[in-house]
Amino acid sequence: MNTTVYETNSPEETRALGKKIGALAGPGDVYTLVGDLGVGKTVFTQGIAEGLGITEPVSSPTFTIVQIYEEGRLPFYHFDVYRIGDLEEMEEIGYEDYFYGQGLCMIEWANLIEEILPEKRYDVTIEKNPEKGFDYRKIIIKGRDGKA
Ligand code: ADP
Ligand code: MG
Repeated sequence: MNTTVYETNSPEETRALGKKIGALAGPGDVYTLVGDLGVGKTVFTQGIAEGLGITEPVSSPTFTIVQIYEEGRLPFYHFDVYRIGDLEEMEEIGYEDYFYGQGLCMIEWANLIEEILPEKRYDVTIEKNPEKGFDYRKIIIKGRDGKA
């Protein structure tokens, strides 16, 4: 397992980090994304989308489990599983086609579906630290290879 920690001090910096990741991502990459409300998950995700070459606006997929964007370099599958009742709902949407497909998956609230997450993935956590200022964010990216 390989952990990288980034620090940003503006939404633009967080977006730029996401953009870099989106630009470098390969088919089948899976990212989980965890952090409190207002911490910058959407800002980061918008950067990823930009890095993939998606120009349409990306927001939180509030009323659907997955929002699909096809116009970029790779398909972008943006999940928000906050409202999921049970894992059967994931089965119903055919989640495996996305998790093990050729696009980039970003899964918000992934802790709610821990049991079915691919072992090979990147876990992203965004945190604030009031002592370091209002716009400070710590962005931790753990690469999991499924072995550790
Ligand atoms: P979430 O999706 O996690 O609820 P949003 O991305 O919608 O959060 O909102 C993050 C808010 O925090 C935005 O208003 C953004 O301008 C602000 N912000 C301030 N500093 C940062 C930073 N370093 N990185 C990301 N967002 C920041
Ligand atoms: Mg959001």
